[in-house]
Amino acid sequence: MLEISNKNTEEIILSAYRSRIVVPAFNIPFLPMVAPIIQALKDTGKFGLIQVARLEWIKFGARSLEAVAEEYRLHSSVEHTRLHLDHIPVIDEDGQRVDFLDDLKKALDSGYESLMVDGSRLSLKENIEATSRACDITHKGGVPIEAELGAVLGHEAGPLPPYNELFSSGKGFTDVNQAKRFVLETGVDWLSVAIGNIHGAVSGVFKNQKKVPARLDIERLKEINAALGIPLVLHGGSGIQPKYIQEAIRNGIAKINIGTNIRQPYVKILEESGSTDKAQDAVYEAVKDVMKNELGMI
Ligand SMILES: [Zn+2]
Repeated sequence: MLEISNKNTEEIILSAYRSRIVVPAFNIPFLPMVAPIIQALKDTGKFGLIQVARLEWIKFGARSLEAVAEEYRLHSSVEHTRLHLDHIPVIDEDGQRVDFLDDLKKALDSGYESLMVDGSRLSLKENIEATSRACDITHKGGVPIEAELGAVLGHEAGPLPPYNELFSSGKGFTDVNQAKRFVLETGVDWLSVAIGNIHGAVSGVFKNQKKVPARLDIERLKEINAALGIPLVLHGGSGIQPKYIQEAIRNGIAKINIGTNIRQPYVKILEESGSTDKAQDAVYEAVKDVMKNELGMI
């Protein structure tokens, strides 16, 4: 059981890490999803983060980071929720440079309580440079920051290579020695790792497809956790086989991102019924389902 009261996000994630508990972080591609997610957390007595990634306001209906913060404040609960900024890429999914420092500053001004910078499309050296600058700004703002090392695929346009091929090659997986250097040189608080997890597709026809049931390289995770000793984050949490998730939580994963599992029911029911209320009900049920059946939290 996680003690929340007035703790800040840094303390909450650290205590989850030490107690081997996971904090789910729910993505917001559409503003009406905020209310049912928070309601489900309140009704089950659980804690979670509400988060938005840049591509969710660029390619989906989240509008802006400010709009999500505003919607969040209408429903938030000090016992059950905190607000997190997910992926702010240095190079975006279409290969364009992003003014990432500007987005991070805006998020601090809008009351985000933790941030993420994603330099994973850069070389190690460039990723360290960009992440260090992001850490400076974020820490001056008094909040923790997450970064990514290794490539959690799935946001790019087009289909992924066959999953089994991807997994057995270990291509793009987080390297232990690089991770050690990265954390030491940047001062990042939490690290998103690539160990077989993939993002749900977000582009074109692929975004409605069922995700492949991903596996995780638990041995690799154990090595990373032993080398770093900081909270680790698992992106692409939807569709990972539950036995791997439980092993991952025991070995350093303190935050898990949930996107596809709650976005797809929202979009499907909205398209079928034309009713935002019904789509929100579907999100409420999906959140409870994920916490029970995938995360084993309830
Ligand atoms: Zn992600």
